[in-house]
Amino acid sequence: MHCSTSRSLLAAAVLAAAQAVAAQAPSAAAAATPVVATRTANIAPANATPQAPMPFPAVASLKPIPSSVMAAYTNMPTLWPDADESKGPIALDSLLAAPLVTAGLAKVTAMVDPTLLALKPSIRNGYQSETLYQEDPVANCFWPTNQCHTPSLTTYKYLQPDVVACIDQSTLGLNYDDGPSGPTGQPSQGNETTLALGQKLQSMNLTATFFVTGGSSFYNPDALQALYAEGHELAVHTWTHAPMTSLTNQQIVAEILYTEAFIYALVGQRPRYFRPPYGDVDNRVRAIIGALGYESVMWQEAKDLGDQASATPPPVASMVALFDSWMTPQAGYIDLEHSLAAPVNQFAAAILDDVAARKAAGKFVPTIVPVGTCQKKSSYVPLGFALGDVAGVAANSTTPSSSSAAAGATMGSSSVAAGATPKSTAGPATPGASAANSGAVPPAGPAFLAGSVAAAAAAAAAAVLAF
Ligand SMILES: [Zn+2]
Repeated sequence: MHCSTSRSLLAAAVLAAAQAVAAQAPSAAAAATPVVATRTANIAPANATPQAPMPFPAVASLKPIPSSVMAAYTNMPTLWPDADESKGPIALDSLLAAPLVTAGLAKVTAMVDPTLLALKPSIRNGYQSETLYQEDPVANCFWPTNQCHTPSLTTYKYLQPDVVACIDQSTLGLNYDDGPSGPTGQPSQGNETTLALGQKLQSMNLTATFFVTGGSSFYNPDALQALYAEGHELAVHTWTHAPMTSLTNQQIVAEILYTEAFIYALVGQRPRYFRPPYGDVDNRVRAIIGALGYESVMWQEAKDLGDQASATPPPVASMVALFDSWMTPQAGYIDLEHSLAAPVNQFAAAILDDVAARKAAGKFVPTIVPVGTCQKKSSYVPLGFALGDVAGVAANSTTPSSSSAAAGATMGSSSVAAGATPKSTAGPATPGASAANSGAVPPAGPAFLAGSVAAAAAAAAAAVLAF
């Protein structure tokens, strides 16, 4: 079992603590407390066998992706990291040397300022989520120690603030981390809990964002296709759920791109959003995420449900009460929930029941949408998509770029000066001509590869993946 927030490992086991945090402003929740995990599950021992190359899973029920769609993805792997995250991050040379990773790293190196790429990786300190940060956590906006979401540096094009809010008032960007999963929380042991959650949402005419790991998806590719078919938004949550700051630049690229490629191989779409496991993110990681064309989605500290509580029985009533306390008109926000073992899913189901009850009683309920909708952006982007090359990329951020002429000059193949890029909050970003950034050349043909993002979604749903 894994989780997404080291801070919730500290606080979530005691709901009172979570509520205390919820009562604080985000800035007040900031603490210099070192990140300390209280759980030791899935820690890779020092002599762990690295992730081994594996063929694409043979699952007979999988819906095939048209060969023309598959062929459009440059450097699609033929072998994948195995799905056992207890083996630690992707580390095997043959996996790291795959063309997918090599091309991605070359792109990052060409686009990101070398001072950011030179920031030292943190050191894992015995627990899965614990990292000992080796740089200045304030200067480099390291979230685990100070809940920093907005880099103070403004001269780096790909250094974007984390996405934590929704644009519209009283809107909840609903999302679940870590699936697909089954009742035990071990992805190798079923996917029923995530499937049940997806279906429950669908029965309520709701859709949500699922930040999935490549590893869990590798065990449960059919569940990924089911979530997509139900209209849920798929987003990247790394392959092995390793804390990102503890990895090399090459490993960060591998964790993101293997997961991206696997999602693409299953649904023919390239996600827009990424969430760093445990919120373990700093400016180096943010810049790599941005250079790969992703937006990093975190959550508001006061909207961490703390749903990984391990108490027996699970404190469902208290959790629902916490959620209920959010049900007031307020600025739009992104929360943190999980789709993991049965008790965790019990929270998610109870909260959805609460939403239904509130609606039935005529009580206030925010607009509940996936993250992309709450950002007024598409869930998926064309191949070759790169931040800074498109209109609307800064719609959810305050990242200035026009003052970074020197940095911009090192950014390689960007085709549009970010400083000249107009903001848009009215609809999906329009893809620019950025094929050179990824090496993936959108071919003529399916609208979702060459045309607008809206057309992409429609074409993919109607013509490519009718399941
Ligand atoms: Zn997670």
